[in-house]
Amino acid sequence: MKKSESASRYDVLILGAGMAGLVAAIEVAEAGGRATVLDKLPPMIGKGIRAIIPGGVANDTARAGGGGLGRFEPEGPLEELLERHRVRGWGRVDLDLMRTYLERLAGDCRWLRDDLKIPFLDRRPIFSSTLVKGRGPGLIRYLYQAVEARGVAIQFETRAVKLLMDENGRVSGARIRNADGVADICAGTVIMATGGYQGNHEMLLKYVGPDITYGTVLTGCATNTGDGHIMAMEMGAQMANLSTCHIRTTDKFHGEGPSRHMRLIYPLGIYLNMECQRFIDEGVSDSDTIANSIACQPGNRAALIFDDKARTRHAEVYQAYPRRAEVIQVAESLQELAVKIDMPPARLKKAVDEFNASVMDGKALGLSIPKKQNALRIDTPPFHAFYPVIPGLNHPLGGLKINNTARVLDRDGSPIPGLYASGSIVNWAFGKPYSVGGVRTYMGSYHAGDSSGLATALVFGRIAGKEAAKEALARRG
Ligand SMILES: Cc1cc2nc3c(=O)[nH]c(=O)nc-3n(C[C@H](O)[C@H](O)[C@H](O)COP(=O)(O)OP(=O)(O)OC[C@H]3O[C@@H](n4cnc5c(N)ncnc54)[C@H](O)[C@@H]3O)c2cc1C
Repeated sequence: MKKSESASRYDVLILGAGMAGLVAAIEVAEAGGRATVLDKLPPMIGKGIRAIIPGGVANDTARAGGGGLGRFEPEGPLEELLERHRVRGWGRVDLDLMRTYLERLAGDCRWLRDDLKIPFLDRRPIFSSTLVKGRGPGLIRYLYQAVEARGVAIQFETRAVKLLMDENGRVSGARIRNADGVADICAGTVIMATGGYQGNHEMLLKYVGPDITYGTVLTGCATNTGDGHIMAMEMGAQMANLSTCHIRTTDKFHGEGPSRHMRLIYPLGIYLNMECQRFIDEGVSDSDTIANSIACQPGNRAALIFDDKARTRHAEVYQAYPRRAEVIQVAESLQELAVKIDMPPARLKKAVDEFNASVMDGKALGLSIPKKQNALRIDTPPFHAFYPVIPGLNHPLGGLKINNTARVLDRDGSPIPGLYASGSIVNWAFGKPYSVGGVRTYMGSYHAGDSSGLATALVFGRIAGKEAAKEALARRG
């Protein structure tokens, strides 16, 4: 045991230097507490860090597109938003947490912009969200600066391996491991912000199942291996919604970026699996739902077929798609298109003909898998195939159950003394299963309503920092 670390004591020990851990550290410092942040990865600043990170070392915050943080005013009346989330989540929404989130979100986004001086880009015309300048890597860089400016040290390449508990049953620090060896760090309170468990195959298999484990490519960071979940479970933490994941469609260059899909165009086309069968209502399904369902299809990939009518409706989206020529095949006939994507021409033609025959007034309701809106006949050459469409696993959505002061709850629903959590280690999954025409198409669920990963990490990271500091300072006397 390294003696110097053994002797060191902080008010708050924060595990994980992503969005959740870094904003928590800022709040501890603002409250006058002594904090340190540990991260098992090296720092994410320096050469090679781009908005889109192919493989390599980067946590989920650095990988994020950066949407979800640009809401500087409330979206609408609170009670209406709550009701919308309650309905959308099939009653699984924790309304207490959701209320806190909705009450705080706009103010917390303004805090990033006005207090931390994090620059935002202007609204982009095609993509409606307001983004942090530099997206994920930019965000990480500004947050490191804000943390360090407040005198909080981030200890990189330092892994937490176990939570410590004192004789009164309070969480009192963590055992850590780094190049110097093993040491114990003592603290008044501990905040878990170690991200998801998408990099842990055993946990994925156990909680999520083989379709998602083996049928997706990993677009989230592989080094988030559920360490925090495992440590917290040893302390008796309650887990919720562990089977739900955030999965988005991506293309064959998935290593170059997440969440790729033909925005606005895909609802006008049809998705076919490798057996040339439709498997989802494309007109009403979001990218997450489609991705979840592709993971359950033969070969775990699909082709999006659309015609030139659909393309011309959103020509700017089509034109702006990165590496379009390599991702989208174009042909004058459906048979020729099928050859280009290695599908049997006669079967592809038959699937499209069947679909076209049932289209009426923008709907195709007579099919075993109907299309309830946006049904356009695929009859205007040239024909387009976005292929392969692949499900990319970002991170799980379930996790530790917390209350609205970010305290981790035990299996009886009581707070575990001294333990707080925020970010994607926390349960924030409220969606619903999706099935159409008797076909299982949806195994995961997205964050409730319009919420997002960065935004929930921001809101509950700040709360965790404030609350953990308050408790630790009170104990310090
Ligand atoms: C590809 C992709 C795109 C996304 N795009 C968006 C988007 O556009 N908008 C949006 O709102 N959200 C987006 N998200 C979600 C968002 O990135 C996450 O919800 C958010 O970053 C979670 O932050 P976090 O701090 O909880 O986790 P992370 O940022 O992953 O941080 C967790 C940290 O804990 C560290 N850690 C883990 N185990 C240990 C240990 N034992 N000891 C010490 N440290 C440890 C990790 O190294 C890591 O640095 C995206 C996610 C992905 C994967």
